[in-house]
Amino acid sequence: MIQSLKNLFQINPDKSLIEDIDYCQNCGACCSYFRVIFDLRKNMHVPHEYIFQYENGEVAMKGAEIIFGKCEALKGTVGHNCSCEIYEDRPDVCRKFSIWNQDGTQNSECIKAREHNGLVGKIDLNRIWQSNQSSNYLLSIFLLFQY
Ligand code: SF4
Ligand code: SF4
Repeated sequence: MIQSLKNLFQINPDKSLIEDIDYCQNCGACCSYFRVIFDLRKNMHVPHEYIFQYENGEVAMKGAEIIFGKCEALKGTVGHNCSCEIYEDRPDVCRKFSIWNQDGTQNSECIKAREHNGLVGKIDLNRIWQSNQSSNYLLSIFLLFQY
């Protein structure tokens, strides 16, 4: 889920660089879509004030204890600038959820979450790749004039 922006302007001809660009900071849809239930014994680091406890003893992120609920740790507006207030201490389920599948395609659950929140579900990788290449090109020129 939400990650920090990194390496946006890194010069790297490898297409895998697109994985380093942060789409999530302008999204946050998955934090407002799933019930975020986790095992408290494995997630003692999650701040207590963000934890919701069901009657059966299970726990979830507050706000995201119901489907389509917005996790209270998500700050900002879904689809715009947003971030996880407890990013370093978020539960393991959040750490495991990724925008990408192992084969580099987009996670279908990510697509569903985005669509549910009124965003375009499928991210246009080609457009991002091209815009990233433009950034790299401009930065290359800039660096060339530095030396
Ligand atoms: S729904 Fe997908 S793009 Fe949006 S924050 Fe979650 S993983 Fe990132
Ligand atoms: S803890 Fe953070 S990453 Fe997990 S659902 Fe809440 S806002 Fe999203």
